[in-house]
Amino acid sequence: MRFGAHVSSSGGISNAVDRGLAIGCESLQVFTHNPRTWRPITHTDEQVALFRQKAAAAGMGPLVSHGLYLINLGAPDKEVPTGPPGKPATATRNIHRSSVESLMQHLEVGERLGLAGVVLHVGSSKGSTEPEAIDRIGTGIAHALDAVPGGCCVYLENTAGAGDTIGRTFEQLRRVADAVDHPTRLGFCLDTQHLFASGYPVHEDGGIDRVLEEFDRVVGVERLRCLHLNDSMTAFGSNRDRHENLGDGLIGEDGMRRILGCPALQDLPVVLEVPGVDGNGPDAENMDRARRFREEGLALRGQG
Ligand SMILES: [Zn+2]
Ligand SMILES: [Zn+2]
Repeated sequence: MRFGAHVSSSGGISNAVDRGLAIGCESLQVFTHNPRTWRPITHTDEQVALFRQKAAAAGMGPLVSHGLYLINLGAPDKEVPTGPPGKPATATRNIHRSSVESLMQHLEVGERLGLAGVVLHVGSSKGSTEPEAIDRIGTGIAHALDAVPGGCCVYLENTAGAGDTIGRTFEQLRRVADAVDHPTRLGFCLDTQHLFASGYPVHEDGGIDRVLEEFDRVVGVERLRCLHLNDSMTAFGSNRDRHENLGDGLIGEDGMRRILGCPALQDLPVVLEVPGVDGNGPDAENMDRARRFREEGLALRGQG
């Protein structure tokens, strides 16, 4: 396991590597965009070169980015009114097309930075049927991958299952993968909190193993490229996306040991997106817990 965390890239993307190193990261996740606006950030060649240099010097990797929150490839392909939150609409936007464009930008920046992949929420159907939405998502991702050739992949993340979001079941993830039809550059990222919230019993004795067997049967475990490791503030099956520090939530210490001792996960980058003990995001304390729970989990399975 290559333990890493989602860290801030404010003040220049290369700062993310320093922040990751300071808390003990071996892998890393960053935003290459401001996650709440469509307008892309301009990364200078100097910052890109520095990011690559620092990551290489630290032996850090795999490196991934997380797509901005506005992206919804499942949205209908039409102009809809938009405006500041809570205010009357001042303009229109085609959310689907903006999402495809933004994904292309994410892949381009990903290529420049040498990232392994862009972690992306699958999207939601926004009033259309699920098959229609899955078809649009598949076409949109395929278009972006074709437009930006290279090694940077798209990793679809499972969701906690709120509302009309797609990606709460492995069957949905499989249908999206089939619609993209780009096997080499489409992988998956499973989030432990989202699995728990969407009703996959990863916390039980033998639970994570059964869940991954199901993932393997439905999607193919070789397409699993990244794990998001988070404990859960909200109940099993609650469909709510609320991350907690490792061991402090409802997955708990025993659940964390079971997950981290799982043989099928040992070769993955494991990225923390926890609130942090002081509320400032992933920290050294959570990174230490992750490594300790893994050692204890392996020992419990007689592999430590
Ligand atoms: Zn996540
Ligand atoms: Zn989440």
